[in-house]
Amino acid sequence: MPTIETLTIDHFRIPVDPPMQAAAAGVISAFELVTARITDSEGATGVGFTVMQDGQGSGAAITAERPFRKFLMGQDADRIEWLWQRMYRGHHYAGRGGPVSFALAAVDVALWDLKARRLDQPLWKLLGGHDQSVRCYAGNIDLNYDLDRLLKSATSDVETGFRSVKMRLGRPTLAEDMDRVAAMRAHLPAEIELMADANEAWRVDQAARAMAMLQEHDLVWLEEPIVPDNLEGYSYLRGLGRVPIAAGENMHTLSEFTQLIMAKGADFIEPDLTTLGGITPWMKVAHLAEAHGLPVTSHGSHDLHVHVMAAVSNATYLEWFAFDLSPYMADPLRVKDGFAQAPDRAGHGITLDWDKLAQHRIGP
Ligand SMILES: [Mg+2]
Repeated sequence: MPTIETLTIDHFRIPVDPPMQAAAAGVISAFELVTARITDSEGATGVGFTVMQDGQGSGAAITAERPFRKFLMGQDADRIEWLWQRMYRGHHYAGRGGPVSFALAAVDVALWDLKARRLDQPLWKLLGGHDQSVRCYAGNIDLNYDLDRLLKSATSDVETGFRSVKMRLGRPTLAEDMDRVAAMRAHLPAEIELMADANEAWRVDQAARAMAMLQEHDLVWLEEPIVPDNLEGYSYLRGLGRVPIAAGENMHTLSEFTQLIMAKGADFIEPDLTTLGGITPWMKVAHLAEAHGLPVTSHGSHDLHVHVMAAVSNATYLEWFAFDLSPYMADPLRVKDGFAQAPDRAGHGITLDWDKLAQHRIGP
């Protein structure tokens, strides 16, 4: 039985240049990365990580570094569900979301990577192995782009190999947002799909008006038109039947997804394993969605999500995350003709460049 021998947590702050902007997050000039490395008694290593906005990583880094350690050391590395429940329940008072979910994600991914590497299997096969080929879309964060730069960026996405492109909404006036969507739709070839993400910019009444105006543009979905907590609002907006709704990136527990699905609040369920507590709960959300006849899309780190998306039968679009970790990876994911192929390497197949990351290390 392989037991957990070491746990190494690191915390990095990685600059974003030039800065990006989205409605809820504001201007983003860096993101934070918390990594977890676990080795077992047989010498195998698993690596996990979570990604956060600038200034928000410390809680996850410290939670994974200190209190989680006692739940992990010396335990059977293969009992991932049991270990996950120990960490989750051991932190129910201050947890059930927030930094604890992010810390859980880094550790849970490391455990799954460790298990898959030991079995010499790619994660996507170990988790279900539905379809290695995953449709993806460019998840730009571009609210601060002027129109010219916005359209050029979309052209570049298409040249890179994307067949679906997302743009941000939430400019000072709805009229400006609608002008930008109309310009984008006119600019893109008809066969290129368009999504829009409002990042919680609107009240319910504003979202309802926006969706009436967006109807003519045939969006794949409108993402997070309102704050994530207003499930009644999501239910109302979806009930209007104007534009399909995607939501979930700001939900950090299985319970929150259960409530979203039971409220019939979204057409595309959008869990992010790096913010939800890892692969363990992500798979549960995907299966819960499947049981309710709903598709999943992913939010966040595409090099990780390509595996869970390839594993399940109700996967739709993999978000190509705007926070780019590829300069720190040995063999990052590529997109071709709108699809990415989940790697055949054992585990998640991500090899981080620790020497290059070291210059950005800030803790824990
Ligand atoms: Mg979003």
